[in-house]
Amino acid sequence: MNIDFILHCVQQVKEALPAITDYKEILAALRLCNYNPDEVISMFFAMFGDSLEDTINGQHNLEPTFLQRDIYKKDKKIEILTKNLQERESELERLSLKCKYLEDEKHHFIHRTKCLNEKVTELQSDHVKYLKEITEIKSKNVQITNPLQTYSPLNKDVLLKLLREARELNVTNDQLRVLATSGLSEIEQCMDHLQSTVINMRSSTKELGEIRTLYQRESLERKLLYNQLQELRGNIRVFCRSRLDNGKGEHLEFPSDEEILVNHNGNKKRFRFDQVFLPQCTQEYVFEQTLPIIKSCVDGYNVCILAYGQTGSGKTYTMMGNEQKPGVNIRSIRELLRICHERERIQYTTKISMLEIYNESVWDLLSQNGNKQLEIRSQGKTVTIPGLTEAEVLTEEDIKNTISFGEKNRTVASTKMNTESSRSHLMVILSVNGIDSISGVVSNSTLTLCDLAGSERISKTEATGQRLMEAAAINKSLTALGQVFTALKKNSLHVPYRNSKLTHLLQPSLSGQAKSCVFVNISPDIKDLGETVSSLQFGSSIQQIALGNPTPHTSSVKLGY
Ligand code: ADP
Repeated sequence: MNIDFILHCVQQVKEALPAITDYKEILAALRLCNYNPDEVISMFFAMFGDSLEDTINGQHNLEPTFLQRDIYKKDKKIEILTKNLQERESELERLSLKCKYLEDEKHHFIHRTKCLNEKVTELQSDHVKYLKEITEIKSKNVQITNPLQTYSPLNKDVLLKLLREARELNVTNDQLRVLATSGLSEIEQCMDHLQSTVINMRSSTKELGEIRTLYQRESLERKLLYNQLQELRGNIRVFCRSRLDNGKGEHLEFPSDEEILVNHNGNKKRFRFDQVFLPQCTQEYVFEQTLPIIKSCVDGYNVCILAYGQTGSGKTYTMMGNEQKPGVNIRSIRELLRICHERERIQYTTKISMLEIYNESVWDLLSQNGNKQLEIRSQGKTVTIPGLTEAEVLTEEDIKNTISFGEKNRTVASTKMNTESSRSHLMVILSVNGIDSISGVVSNSTLTLCDLAGSERISKTEATGQRLMEAAAINKSLTALGQVFTALKKNSLHVPYRNSKLTHLLQPSLSGQAKSCVFVNISPDIKDLGETVSSLQFGSSIQQIALGNPTPHTSSVKLGY
């Protein structure tokens, strides 16, 4: 198998389905279908159905609106099916009642027929008895009247009476016969009706089963579409996490998973985020919510996780954590390594770099010869840092050793410069390079984990000398970060990435198809209320930004460092 063949397959799928514009998606589908384009096309049709055809005729991409419309359609379909299901169920109930009623009727008729048969038998035996009596009387009469003709008037009356009775009995007998016959035919009709009802019920039950299956399938498809929509919608996710603090934070309310209310000067302010983590949320839980974004790094997307907030709000706890409760950094690198090992077809190389941005200068934290200042170079969309140390990591032990080496370097440097670590931005960069052993396709991506410097404003008394310089540098870079997000929000042609070292370095992770996650860390302490509100405002201002359009992302374009 060679690259030309793969390109030919991709082209075939693209021609058949112009609405699918993401090459990665097509490649993934091809891998799944053993590089059979026809199978891939049928798979996409099976997944997106009519809506895909609509999209082909109207030349749009699979954008969120498209998926939303699809979901809406599915919802409608589900609604109709649910209604159908309910109607069928009530029909079934009605039929069951009818069936029961007919069952009772049948028993009643059987009982009645039995009684009538008994009566007929009884009357028949009476009839036989009376006929016998008549014959006897007749014969007696003949014997008496013929020779003597003495008792004829009396015997005649008796005889006539008996004859009348016999006639009446015959009539009653006939009537009973007619009654019994009509009763039996009525029962037969009822039985026929009952049988057809049972057949109807059987087919209804079958139909019900089919409707149920259809319903389940529609629900599943909706879920798939919803996941896709989330994917497209969420190039930037903004999470809010409050630090754990015993007995404090009455001014903070958490009405739902996506909202936080802040009681500020008697006014309740509501902020919405993709996810709001309660103070008691565990590191595991927080990581699980971040995982879907992190995972896309192995699929060739640049991913960036940022922690924003004032000093002491839990940024380092969220990103780095501690020995017992590791944060997003260790967990995500560990998870990526695990996924890379799992994908046998693709050979991955994973390398870590660590750097610090202090006072607008970049420092290599993994350099063996003490701290080394670095420069940023960029060419087109590619940003590089020549000379930045990269350490290959294969195991969890490697990750821990490398990160703790970088942290030690950072402490030494901050002591030397008489500053605190909270006054610089820390970046841990994992570069993931993969080669597909079958198709030969290369993918390069980076996972950038960034613990930002404290966002708090410094007090007037501190605003001198070195502290002032630090504060100005932090303010500059965080303002630049805000400007970048604002420009992205407005879809501006020019995004001012180069206004600070921080945004310049983050450019590959905040443009194109890159995916980002911003943690807005807040303190539940009432004395930090002002800073909390300003952090929440920053977070909610970037909440609705979605990066770039889902344009094809070719693996040969290096968007890494
Ligand atoms: P920052 O990095 O924003 O300056 P830290 O991460 O150092 O803040 O957090 C300050 C303190 O609060 C640390 O002692 C940290 O262990 C603790 N902390 C922060 N968030 C949590 C949390 N969610 N649960 C428990 N302890 C936390």
